[in-house]
Amino acid sequence: MLGIGTPDSLMREIAPGVFVATATMYTTTTTVVAGADGGCLVIDPAVTVADLGALAAWLSARGLRPVAGWSTHPHWDHVLWSRSLGAGVPRYARSRAAQVAARDLPGLTAGADESAPGHDHELLGRLSPLGAGQVPWDGPRTEVVAHDAHAPGHGALFLPGSGVLVAGDMCSDIEIPLLDTDAADPFGGYRHGLGALASLSGVRLVVPGHGHVGDSSQFRRRVAADFAYLDAVEAGRDPLDPRLTQRWLRAEHDRHRALAGGLRDGA
Ligand SMILES: [Zn+2]
Repeated sequence: MLGIGTPDSLMREIAPGVFVATATMYTTTTTVVAGADGGCLVIDPAVTVADLGALAAWLSARGLRPVAGWSTHPHWDHVLWSRSLGAGVPRYARSRAAQVAARDLPGLTAGADESAPGHDHELLGRLSPLGAGQVPWDGPRTEVVAHDAHAPGHGALFLPGSGVLVAGDMCSDIEIPLLDTDAADPFGGYRHGLGALASLSGVRLVVPGHGHVGDSSQFRRRVAADFAYLDAVEAGRDPLDPRLTQRWLRAEHDRHRALAGGLRDGA
């Protein structure tokens, strides 16, 4: 469930008009940005059917109505939606992410069914492609930070007015960098994406897809830790990364090491 107890405890207002909920499952965040006339932008609503129901109830209690959605990347836990959020609301993603989601719809659906069953299959992964630039909505300026780290078509959102960076599955305090191992250049692609986020000026708060909201110094530390992790793995060293705790992260780390080893051997 998202948060606990009353709808008002569900969301934390991290900056004026920017709310973050944190689901128990995978410490997954959902971000809501308030816009004009009670409209709001809903970013990566997640994870369980009950979580989305609680989110919809909270929005309604606050007098907020979704007018746009955003999916940061085409992984199942970032392309969910519910009729209670409005079946006809445009849900944007980068063009490549929308294409990948359409192509991988059976896999995305299977992923959701396995881990968070009961989601509406007709709404899952239905994304409207958007080029670079801004999310077209009547609210605070919302810039798309495009790169292909972690997943193809990844699109973080940056709100220059409040300095909030909704990073998608990057810049986490609880996860190591998770590479898109199917990419042509997984390490280079990740470095490029991390560099794009690091080059933003005015980041005051970072919201990772999984983990905890960080301030500007935590954002810098996470970027540095992520680059240090990549440096170590690519060089064949053991990274001393305190985030390497859970078994599934160790398994991902082993895949990264094997990938880096293969690249070194082939070089
Ligand atoms: Zn992901």
